[in-house]
Amino acid sequence: MQILSVLVQHQKMALDRPFSYLYDGTEEVKPGCRVIVDFHGQHLMGYVDEVTQSSLNKQELCELYGFDFTFISSLVDRQPLLNDELHQLCQEVADYYLSPKISVLQAMLPSSLKPSISSLNGPKIAYETWVKAVDTDEEGLTDKQKEALRLIAANDSILKKEVGSDSIVNSLLKKKKIAVFKKEKDRFLIPEYEKEQKPRELTIDQNNAVKTILESEKDVILLQGVTGSGKTEVYLKLSEEYLSKGKNILMLVPEISLTPIMVEYFSRRFAGNVAILHSELTPAEKYDEYRRIARGEAKVVVGARSAVFAPLENIGLIILDEEHVESYKQDNLPYYHAREVAIMRAKHFGAKVILGSATPSFETKARAMRGVYGYASLNKRINEKALPQTKIIDLKDRSVMVPNGTVFSKPLLNAIKERLEKKEQVILLINRRGYSSFVTCANCGHIFTCPSCHCNLTYHREDELLKCHHCGYVISYPEVCPECGSPKIKRVGFGTERIVKVLGEYLPEARVGRLDSDVGKVRKKVAKTLQEFRNFEYDILVGTQMIAKGHDFPNVTLVGMVLADIGLSLPSYRASETTFELITQAVGRSGRGAKQGVALIQSYNPFHYAVALGAKQDYESFFVKEMQQRKITRFPPYVYLIALHFSAKVEQRCIEASVSFKQNLEAKFPDDVTCLGPVVPYYAVVGDYHKRSLLIKTKTPAKIKPYLGELVRVLSGKGGIDIECDVDPLDY
Ligand code: ADP
Ligand code: ZN
Ligand code: ZN
Repeated sequence: MQILSVLVQHQKMALDRPFSYLYDGTEEVKPGCRVIVDFHGQHLMGYVDEVTQSSLNKQELCELYGFDFTFISSLVDRQPLLNDELHQLCQEVADYYLSPKISVLQAMLPSSLKPSISSLNGPKIAYETWVKAVDTDEEGLTDKQKEALRLIAANDSILKKEVGSDSIVNSLLKKKKIAVFKKEKDRFLIPEYEKEQKPRELTIDQNNAVKTILESEKDVILLQGVTGSGKTEVYLKLSEEYLSKGKNILMLVPEISLTPIMVEYFSRRFAGNVAILHSELTPAEKYDEYRRIARGEAKVVVGARSAVFAPLENIGLIILDEEHVESYKQDNLPYYHAREVAIMRAKHFGAKVILGSATPSFETKARAMRGVYGYASLNKRINEKALPQTKIIDLKDRSVMVPNGTVFSKPLLNAIKERLEKKEQVILLINRRGYSSFVTCANCGHIFTCPSCHCNLTYHREDELLKCHHCGYVISYPEVCPECGSPKIKRVGFGTERIVKVLGEYLPEARVGRLDSDVGKVRKKVAKTLQEFRNFEYDILVGTQMIAKGHDFPNVTLVGMVLADIGLSLPSYRASETTFELITQAVGRSGRGAKQGVALIQSYNPFHYAVALGAKQDYESFFVKEMQQRKITRFPPYVYLIALHFSAKVEQRCIEASVSFKQNLEAKFPDDVTCLGPVVPYYAVVGDYHKRSLLIKTKTPAKIKPYLGELVRVLSGKGGIDIECDVDPLDY
């Protein structure tokens, strides 16, 4: 008899413990296999966490434990889904992120292997029929059969359908000339790139960076390089070094739209050894790639966030390109950040982690400055190409605006016209986030902020109020500006569609492409639109930050940021950081080819340090300035944050639970935590559930986490309360 500790698919933290089931079948059940169990009358998929052997029978076990054991309904997998390293990683991630282990498993596995019932309807392993020659003696064969046999013999094995008609194959089979076998179908084909003939010579700077990294004793190294400084080539060179030592490479990129480019670079260099994992693949494709990696058939894995869980073994190097990008953090349970998980995995393998960015996250930069991480830099653009000239256009000056077109200033529109005449290309960017929450005075540029938290207030349409999401501060929608008395209070919101429409009115001859997350949802559409732009099928590409990062369009000589400071209105302690980043990245897109580039930045706050320093691409000054803010307001990297999200059907229960949680925590750790809230989150009611959040600030997360985790486990699921933890939240 085997006693199985089974984790069941349930998001409630209260169920974040295994349930015991019995199995007395003939198979040996291993930890990491999935099973179907009866859970209070419901058929659920479970994941076997541990297995204990017992010589007792069911009745004896029930008596011994005083507990009514049941048998599992069926065993789903014969082999564990996760190897030991990943099994262990799962626990480590669950502990760090204070999240249910089952939610970590859901994040780790491709959908068709997830421990949930629906995965059973997912893609099954697909088989194809192959043939191979066993006897090449051609006597007694017809000409057609001879031809077929030679074709088969000339190949090791060949797909049956490629041989020719079924009747020929069948007669060869009857004559015992060939054998048929089934092989698992590889549904995904990486586009066939030609192997690069000879890699480019590295520049002196690139060589130095490679050398610094290879010689560094640190496990984690920040590679800070201005946009266009050639970081990709450094990644490739480092990968070569590690591959030649027999080690494998994990290459992470932040966004789907960037992946094909990195895939292409890596595929050309390491032809045949590259596997891809990212969310753009169909479940079937993902499953194939996942299994291919698990079988050890790929040496390099390129992918987005969840690829950090790729079942790659013998890892020597993990690279995160654009490590500062938010999409590396999952915004639902288990709320993990790929950077943190990468560092956990690297520890296991004794591997190095390279964090690449032009604008590193503050956590990373601060650690590099303190010497916790190693540091390498690329300070110049390739070929010493000048950074684009930037100009900030003050949107408060109505005289510069195009009549009736709130979107475009005259300088921007003229610059676009000029590019069209010169047959050069233009990128126009808007910020994806914070559309209508942006509240500002059109006369003086005043932004409404919270007096105690110094972050921007958010407009709530349903009750016409401006709210602070940190402390709960509320004011009614202002009639006049407190700074200048002007009644011109505006909620500004632009979408890409609106910009395309306005462009059509002013420049009907321009060919305009659009790329935002709506378009980006359509599979392959992103790559197609980008390729069309590269092929000069569009003069202008309008998009969100999706196109701001990482792309290399040599014919682009103008980048326009339609409203650079929209991000400043976000209710986040990182509002300035993300605004700075976006501007820097955008400016870096211009003038990457032979011609000098220009960037025009339209802003209501031209003197805000995030805007002014972003335009200058002056990361170091921005870092110093913003760090002072973080120190005063006590935000990362000066403290660690943990957000707790409560939800309940009865609002009062939700309030009570969060208040008593806060009291409990403050009583236990009077010196180690500051707990803000409970606040009403932006989405205060979701479905039937009311929400409240607490924000914990602490300098000693390791000290409070075990207690916190236990508290959540005990309280969540009781009395209709559900609690989720978001460790190191980005949006607060
Ligand atoms: P980053 O990621 O730092 O913004 P990229 O890796 O995109 O920069 O490189 C910028 C440009 O420089 C690309 O067009 C790339 O092909 C080119 N490049 C990189 N390294 C070299 C090199 N050693 N010699 C010539 N061109 C290079
Ligand atoms: Zn004003
Ligand atoms: Zn506040």
